[in-house]
Amino acid sequence: MELQQKLAILADAAKYDASCASSGANRRDSSNGKGVGSTGGAGICHSYAPDGRCISLLKVLLTNRCLYDCHYCINRRSSNVRRAAFTAEEVVKLTLDFYKRNYIEGLFLSSGIIRSADYTMERVVEVARTLREVHDFRGYIHLKTIPEASPELIEQAAKYADRISINLELPTQQSLDRLAPEKNFVRTKQAMGRIRVKLEDAADRRKTGDKKLRHATGQSTQVIVGADASTDADFLNRSEELYASYRMSRVYYSAFSPITEPSSILPLSAPPLIREHRLYQADWLMRFYGFQTSEIVNEKHPNLDLRLDPKLAWALRQRHEFPIDLHTATRDQLLRVPGLGVRNVDRIIRIRRHTRIRLEDLARLRVSLPKVRPFIITADHRPRLEELDIDRFYARLPIQHEQLELFPHALR
Ligand code: SF4
Repeated sequence: MELQQKLAILADAAKYDASCASSGANRRDSSNGKGVGSTGGAGICHSYAPDGRCISLLKVLLTNRCLYDCHYCINRRSSNVRRAAFTAEEVVKLTLDFYKRNYIEGLFLSSGIIRSADYTMERVVEVARTLREVHDFRGYIHLKTIPEASPELIEQAAKYADRISINLELPTQQSLDRLAPEKNFVRTKQAMGRIRVKLEDAADRRKTGDKKLRHATGQSTQVIVGADASTDADFLNRSEELYASYRMSRVYYSAFSPITEPSSILPLSAPPLIREHRLYQADWLMRFYGFQTSEIVNEKHPNLDLRLDPKLAWALRQRHEFPIDLHTATRDQLLRVPGLGVRNVDRIIRIRRHTRIRLEDLARLRVSLPKVRPFIITADHRPRLEELDIDRFYARLPIQHEQLELFPHALR
């Protein structure tokens, strides 16, 4: 098979991984001679480097053959898709060619599992090793690792990559048993734990002046949302654990998308995309706004309200804590006001040292006044209590979404 054909198959097969923001882009291409440019086929996606830069990556699978039979995956062994496999040398060549032409700044490499986890992982590592050691490749490398692979191989992957990841896929063993029977929750967490130790060792060595050390600086994971009846609480509780215990840089929430020839136990339609968005918002609140997961979702509210962003939904449930006075509130209290972001909270704290804050000051900071007014007291404003009536907020919303109606047949 021609390299170009392999690239078409293996770049397409990689697009379901959520770690690249362009993964879900509509397919447009100019291969018929009409127009310029393409969003499909070449396998180029965008991601973020640890320093926050947006970078373009060649995103491919080493192979889409796989021994496993994960129901949600188009590459599962029982799926009737066209298969292909790169050699390690071919991926190295493609990466260097694309890099030299300035198409990409790095490589995102994943793989189906062939022969064994170790056999596959050895080939993935071989690509990264050849790029780094033979070609002195200084671009970004993100490697997907396989939890069942030996710790030594995962360690080598971390040595050559900037970022490594292991996909958790689903938040509980019960969900894995049903949808990805060969995957094991405990094994995945053990692998994440080992990576965490290596990341911490590397961070310590950097602090003590080992500037030449090359080692991944973070690990990430992906979960699939909407392929089973797992609640938002299941996902967010798991994420909270991963951030706290495994030095996780990011948890990616990937909305399940129905695949061709789907397994019969999968839902027929995708979850509303807004669910993925709400999970990212909730995740953000946990990481940067000091929220505990239990404040966002709990037994009474196991799923996020799709109509409201999670901070607003929380604030409306905690109406008794508002309005708060911008002059006397603590930083933590300010961070919980809907409509105030971290940067504006810090600006407000600076400004209030020498002046009484008025609404026009907030407008100058580009704070959304309609959003923030019901929750705050300023020098010239005190909201009426009825402004915090939840029905008023719902009434302003254009679209009503329902959540989890997709699973009348669900096991849990
Ligand atoms: S192991 Fe990965 S590639 Fe193989 S079926 Fe499962 S999700 Fe798909």
